[in-house]
Amino acid sequence: MTLPPLREVIARHGLSASKALGQNFLLDEQLLDRIARIPGPLAGERAYEVGPGPGGLTRALLRAGADVTAVERDRRCLSALAELDAAFPGKLEVIEGDALEIDEATRVPGAHVVANLPYNVGTALLVRWLGDKDWSPWWRSLTLMFQQEVAERIVAQPGTGAYGRLAVLAQWRSTARLAMKVHRSAFVPPPKVMSAVVHIVPAEQPEGVSPARLEQVTAAAFGQRRKMLRQSLKSVPGALGALESLDIDPERRAETLSVAEFVSIARELGV
Ligand code: SAM
Repeated sequence: MTLPPLREVIARHGLSASKALGQNFLLDEQLLDRIARIPGPLAGERAYEVGPGPGGLTRALLRAGADVTAVERDRRCLSALAELDAAFPGKLEVIEGDALEIDEATRVPGAHVVANLPYNVGTALLVRWLGDKDWSPWWRSLTLMFQQEVAERIVAQPGTGAYGRLAVLAQWRSTARLAMKVHRSAFVPPPKVMSAVVHIVPAEQPEGVSPARLEQVTAAAFGQRRKMLRQSLKSVPGALGALESLDIDPERRAETLSVAEFVSIARELGV
């Protein structure tokens, strides 16, 4: 199926990029097809795209055979997306609205999430999706574009400067990997920094710990990351006792603890 070039779609529908909506569009269809392949084969699967804009990634997902549900805030994009709906009848559902207000577990259960989002919205959604107390999650996989610096914090390993709350949140019951780096020049207009796509899948045997408890421990530990745990975890009732019973040296610093060690402290503290 031949679709008009994305540049033409943008010009015809007057989709000048809005800074306020964090719009940096991807127009290279080969690059978009590569991103759409990251979740694995999508034929017959549901994809949930957040922020389709003029529909570049949406086309790639449709080409891959997915049934796509897409939520977009910018009304101006709806006519361009309607053309895609006509080209792939019955395969695209567009919701006009704010992704932060969607009840995904009801609207798109079992979906592969794919998104190129503004940084602040992407991080807010990621934290919500990973921090859900219901697990298994409603999503099957997350394929999300971030600023490269944020992507590196998501996949960071202990002992590195990038390792912190986001890494523990992303890795304690999921597997997170940096799937692809994307040069700033691939976007129109180009953002100031480089980007990267992160791919996250739920772990097969998730740890049974309260996310709120884990968050309490990592917030305290990384809130004072240069301090020893003896000092940084003082504010968390029971944490110093937990270190002792787990035989974790209180003179260590937060960034030396593995994700499993954080989980064991949280488990020791209980719900
Ligand atoms: N997916 C397109 C692409 O890759 O070319 C557009 C990417 S652009 C970085 C982000 C898109 O997300 C824009 O179309 C913007 O209007 C939309 N957006 C921003 N905030 C949103 C929100 N809260 N809910 C839904 N869409 C949002």
